[in-house]
Amino acid sequence: MGTLLPLSGEPAALRASLEALPRLRLAHLPTPLLKVRALDDRLGCDVWIKRDDATAGAEAGNKIRKLELLLADALARGCDTVITCGGVQSNHARATALLAARLGLRCVLLLRVSDVAEPLPKTGNVLLDLLAGADIRRITADEYRARDQRMYDVAQSLAIAGRKPYVIPEGGSNGLGAIGYVLAMRELRGQIDAGLAGNAPKDRPFDVIAHACGSGGTAAGVLLGAHTYRIAARAIAFAVCDDAATFSRRIAGIARDACAIVPSLDAAQTPHVDDHARGPAYGVASDEQRALLADIARTSGVVLDPVYTGKAMHGLALAVRRGDVALGSRVLFIHTGGLPGLLAAGDAFDDLRG
Ligand SMILES: *Cc1c(COP(=O)(O)O)cnc(C)c1O
Repeated sequence: MGTLLPLSGEPAALRASLEALPRLRLAHLPTPLLKVRALDDRLGCDVWIKRDDATAGAEAGNKIRKLELLLADALARGCDTVITCGGVQSNHARATALLAARLGLRCVLLLRVSDVAEPLPKTGNVLLDLLAGADIRRITADEYRARDQRMYDVAQSLAIAGRKPYVIPEGGSNGLGAIGYVLAMRELRGQIDAGLAGNAPKDRPFDVIAHACGSGGTAAGVLLGAHTYRIAARAIAFAVCDDAATFSRRIAGIARDACAIVPSLDAAQTPHVDDHARGPAYGVASDEQRALLADIARTSGVVLDPVYTGKAMHGLALAVRRGDVALGSRVLFIHTGGLPGLLAAGDAFDDLRG
């Protein structure tokens, strides 16, 4: 159970219900809030980045903020094994595997692969999963559609064998996990109050807060937290796989569940999902997205990934081009991580000459 830094103006009931939640301190917080001038020129906006790619070492990325709450819940319930799922290069699976190893928990990962007969590629996230000693079970895309049932089945058989399993949904995206991003917005409020967001107005210093959306938990937490802590006028979740309608429903559901856990959050927020930059498929970036990623790395040293953050940044650029985000807007982009996935995707970067 952590003690939160005081925040002036925060309702006592909100603070008390956040403090009451069991939470492990696993991430390196607060993450930096950076002004990136090279992005100002490229996007025509005043761009800041919240460096949630720097939440940790090998466990870094957005998932650790959710796992601080989810794994605390697992321990509070006396569980000894965590079960979760994801794509083969899932950042969430990797963060879970490494944090489970750190806490002395066993970890079962159901990873979606194109061919279950093929050996796993020992690269990127998978390499880290294997190093963490995770019990990896390959499943097909068809089986993955019933992932919650599959994880429940695994939990049942582990329980019969005398273990105490804890199931973490895809992406750690449920009401409890999403509160990790309410707390991230609270952290941002502290940074803004300390003057770390430049000379913007302290009340709603950003016009837009933008981030990638893959399972909806980050979006739900940002939506609730950005409103509660007056961070931005609008939160835009850039979808990387499903369409806007699907994600809006999912995010609203997760946000409702989060509000049931922390009742002083305002449940009346409507998600804003932008699906213009989903790219060719989940995990596959377009030529334009890869070129943008390379250009940003070269001009700013900020490394995005082709599965999530590169698409979100491309979506933001398209939104400015369309006029959906006005030129000159103050934009806060959350860099949610994903570096291991990039390092496993070198073959997609044919244009880079060595
Ligand atoms: C999982 C992930 C996201 C998406 O977050 P969700 O909460 O699953 O929507 C964004 N960026 C990276 C790098 C991720 O690993």
